[in-house]
Amino acid sequence: MCIITRMDDWYDARGDAAARLRQRKYALLRRFSIPADALPGSLALTHRRCGRPTCHCARDPKGHPVWSLTFMVNGKKRVEWIPDEWAEQIRPLVEQGREFKDAVAEVFAANAQLLALRRQQSTPRRRKKP
Ligand SMILES: [Zn+2]
Repeated sequence: MCIITRMDDWYDARGDAAARLRQRKYALLRRFSIPADALPGSLALTHRRCGRPTCHCARDPKGHPVWSLTFMVNGKKRVEWIPDEWAEQIRPLVEQGREFKDAVAEVFAANAQLLALRRQQSTPRRRKKP
């Protein structure tokens, strides 16, 4: 139980800056739970040639417009082609994924800043001996 008390203590910084960070942190925590259907990466419209020699795209430098989802899996970049009719439904799921990722990063950054503030506010004199 001693460990848990100490963990709470890390984010127990005083002052306005710390209060603002905690307020923002808990607002984010209340707002976000893991969106089950969210997607990673980014959705983009690109162009490519279909390869048929008789198709107009063989001469057209732009080729056919194609939607693609670019994302990372186990540290490797992957590109998935997305059918036109899926693009509009997929777009909000990608946006949801980005918002969630940003929120998680912000909560962790707030924790790090609270830890830093707490560290600055602690003095060797106030530190408890084990
Ligand atoms: Zn073509």
